[in-house]
Amino acid sequence: KETVSKNFIEQEIDKDLAEGVYDHVQTRFPPEPNGYLHIGHAKSIILNSGLAKEYGGKFNLRFDDTNPTKEKTEYVESIINDVKWLGAEFEDRLFFASDYFDAMYECAVHLIKKGKAFVCDLSADEIREYRGDFNTPGKNSPYRDRTVEENLKLFEEMKNGVYKDGEKVLRAKIDMASPNINMRDPVIYRVARMSHHNTGDKWCIYPMYDFAHPIEDAIEHITHSICTLEFEDHRPLYDWVVRECGFENPPRQIEFAKLYLTNVVTGKRYIKKLVEDGIVDGWDDPRLVTIAALRRRGYTPESLRMFVDLVGVSKANSSVDYAMLEYCIREDLKLKRPRMMAILDPVKLVIDNYPEGQTEMLSVPNNLENPEMGERQVPFSRELYIEREDFMEEPPKKYFRLFPGNEVRLMSAYFVTCTSFEKDENGKVTVVHCTYDPETKSGSGFNGRKVKGTIHWVSAEHAGQVECRLYENIVDEEKGKLNADGTLNLNPNSKTVTMAYVEPALMEARAYDSFQFVRNGFYCVDCKDSEEGKPVYNRIVSLKSSFRL
Ligand code: ATP
Ligand code: MG
Ligand code: MG
Repeated sequence: KETVSKNFIEQEIDKDLAEGVYDHVQTRFPPEPNGYLHIGHAKSIILNSGLAKEYGGKFNLRFDDTNPTKEKTEYVESIINDVKWLGAEFEDRLFFASDYFDAMYECAVHLIKKGKAFVCDLSADEIREYRGDFNTPGKNSPYRDRTVEENLKLFEEMKNGVYKDGEKVLRAKIDMASPNINMRDPVIYRVARMSHHNTGDKWCIYPMYDFAHPIEDAIEHITHSICTLEFEDHRPLYDWVVRECGFENPPRQIEFAKLYLTNVVTGKRYIKKLVEDGIVDGWDDPRLVTIAALRRRGYTPESLRMFVDLVGVSKANSSVDYAMLEYCIREDLKLKRPRMMAILDPVKLVIDNYPEGQTEMLSVPNNLENPEMGERQVPFSRELYIEREDFMEEPPKKYFRLFPGNEVRLMSAYFVTCTSFEKDENGKVTVVHCTYDPETKSGSGFNGRKVKGTIHWVSAEHAGQVECRLYENIVDEEKGKLNADGTLNLNPNSKTVTMAYVEPALMEARAYDSFQFVRNGFYCVDCKDSEEGKPVYNRIVSLKSSFRL
């Protein structure tokens, strides 16, 4: 990569390598297994694994499972699946922070022996009170000057279950007058009687995040520990921990801004609420932006990588337009997926001069912009379905589709001229009649005259019927993401279910297969609700967009 096009993290890495701070690059993605991953995590995964690849280094997947309350094995499996699906290569470098509990305990003992940690009997409220705030320096704990021997004994007793939850904590001895509140003798171990999914009841003391995380990184020889901006103020503590614990060649933390999307719910808390309230049909509901939901909707790993690339990394928090994500999936699928015919709001078209009972197989190109995709055979007959909006009784100016007397091309078939139409008692058009000109068959080289409109169709007799699900954003930010009472202001139209007539090949599609429905959008076969021969289609994205790069 050219230096100018490198992001600030790459520039930092270049500098570290040039100065010999590190001779290799090792990154990691450290999720807490307390929920499903979302698009923000995808950014972190793609960024970290991408840097490892770019610098010929390694990338670890590490579960940050040091906090036993919220963790579940179900989440571990979904996370591994998502990381693999995104194409991040961790090979056999899958780690669990809980496997380092012994090493963390040793680090704590080491700090006590150096006089850099002490057991404190203050309650959580008292600790907060003593800590002071931005304007007030903190006060030393009355337990700060315990002897090394006493601290070692008390800490061992904490480990052995002598004390109740919250009765004692281990704190780092740093500086109660530090302008950085994180440095005011932070708690590094607490007593908590909780079963851990990995270590069971072995431990009744657990390390705090700010102590555990740098040790995890150091044990794995991580060089660049990339995290989000809210940890910037914690970096001095990170550096203190790896230094005081005596790690050689310790990792360094680099922060970047979190990814936020407009009109989308990304917070785990809100997603959880939507799932629990039954507003969505699970963590993978296609309206969500969990990785599982994006996959179910029909997003591809390539489209997410393109998105992360376009967004880039920065130090400033900002919100990215959801339309950019849509742009990426359109770009990715445009040349890769066949363009099929499907009719979502049908009206019948009868070709009165076409022989009754005749079926003709027509060659239809799979993708006009990508001839390598070849052609397929589509049945054509006297009665078709076309989109209701492709016929008008009284057309406005510049309407080039069907209206009485007008001639159009039926895509990959013939020219037809509208002769008449029928309506029901409510004035709704039920049938459009036309005649066709056999000489105008597509591919025949006919060039006697031209028409301005081309419409698509399916043969009524041969068409299959499928359920289509059309989605809009789950919240509309222009109307406010939240209501006055703090609940989400939900878009009532976020999901519309409709039937569609489709060409026969679309009936055989399998879960995750995706297609362009011509003139409409990209669709993907739902992996949960489809059955063999009975696919349900999710609209990934429509074809139209006002989004510009
Ligand atoms: P959330 O609360 O949304 O689940 P989190 O930060 O609690 O996010 P973790 O499992 O702790 O989730 O995160 C794992 C990694 O993913 C961290 O390194 C974190 O910085 C990164 N990450 C989380 N959210 C985002 C985001 N919106 N953009 C970029 N990276 C993110
Ligand atoms: Mg977190
Ligand atoms: Mg979290």
